[in-house]
Amino acid sequence: MKYILVIGDGMADNPVPELGGRTPLEYARVPYIDALAAKGTVGSVVNCPKGLPPGSDTAILSIFGNDPRDCYTGRSPLEAAASGIQLAPGDVSYRCNMVTLEDGDAPFAEKKILSHSGGSIDGMESIKLVEDLFKDPAFHAAAEKAGLRVYPAASFRHIAVQSAADIRQIVLIPPHDHLGEVIGPLLPSGNANAEVLRDLMERAYTVLNHHPINEARRAEGKLPANGVWFWAEGSAVALSSFEDKFGKRGTVISAVPLCHGIARLSGLEVTEVEGATGELETNYEGKVDAAICALKAGRAFAAIHIEAPDECTHNGDLKGKVQAIEWLDSRVVAPLTDALAEAGFDYRLLLLSDHKTLTATRGHDGDPVPFLLYDSRVDTGRGLPYTEASGKKGPFYADGAAVDMKLLFEEAVDGI
Ligand SMILES: [Zn+2]
Repeated sequence: MKYILVIGDGMADNPVPELGGRTPLEYARVPYIDALAAKGTVGSVVNCPKGLPPGSDTAILSIFGNDPRDCYTGRSPLEAAASGIQLAPGDVSYRCNMVTLEDGDAPFAEKKILSHSGGSIDGMESIKLVEDLFKDPAFHAAAEKAGLRVYPAASFRHIAVQSAADIRQIVLIPPHDHLGEVIGPLLPSGNANAEVLRDLMERAYTVLNHHPINEARRAEGKLPANGVWFWAEGSAVALSSFEDKFGKRGTVISAVPLCHGIARLSGLEVTEVEGATGELETNYEGKVDAAICALKAGRAFAAIHIEAPDECTHNGDLKGKVQAIEWLDSRVVAPLTDALAEAGFDYRLLLLSDHKTLTATRGHDGDPVPFLLYDSRVDTGRGLPYTEASGKKGPFYADGAAVDMKLLFEEAVDGI
């Protein structure tokens, strides 16, 4: 028996006028997912507990069976764990996004934030920019004074760690929830350390705005990555063992550090896939191959996380979001289920969105999301497609952390 988790990050949504009042899940052509849904069970679940910020950090902790109300200290410590960064007592880690700020003469606080990802900058360009920033003499001195160092990543998602940092009452706002807005009210606030971070963000803009890499990006019609944005603060976190909780060993396949970190901290394996980007153009086939390989090698559990629907929504790319959902169907679910059948495995598959990402706001939402549970040995005959509306007709669970993995692993759960 094999158990497969597929997370389509942020694919759930509300009805969208441009799609004739349908949601992207309703609009997208997903024949393979719908065939599983028709024979399985579609319900809805809340993965982001009330009172915590809705996002992949809280939602994916829940999905893997960790109650974020007990273990969530912030997003970046989970990502730091993925990179093997050890946080000492008193250390605080932050996400240090490359972002795009409006250029021109407006004072720093009056600029708008145009992209939370520096126009999806990645690879050596992103590494070089953040390294050059931290080597700039004036910035270097200010960062050193703040006790702040950076761990560059080959994407827009760098990690910064600050020693002896005070984050009590600090307010750091996720940039992807405020695209197009003036940054003044969004900049770090709440305590003296916030002023330090705010000053570093302003200095970073001065260093980065006319950096040769950004001038080259502008010349190519791309957005410059002319700012950094500190958020997702948190101290070291410990998670309980997945194997102890569910008696299963397995692997997690994702492009994003957050999922790798949650996996590592839970004692699950991480399989890195060449060409997995977290964007619409990613190595879907490689991810499916990695899952099948792990299952054939004796693992009972494999998780595939696809970030693209969320990223497309943040980028205001509705067509991309629909395409991401259709590719999740044709390039993940179709080959995955074919390969499982060919290998002769009985399996259960749980497919869900971690949280909603709303086309209307380009931000996250903590509403219930639809899940699809399919068991290859069973035909429930329910006949519903996989949509938000079908989810409302099925079983509802208010606490994803308590049920998601139990549903997958056939443990007793009311309503199924
Ligand atoms: Zn997101």
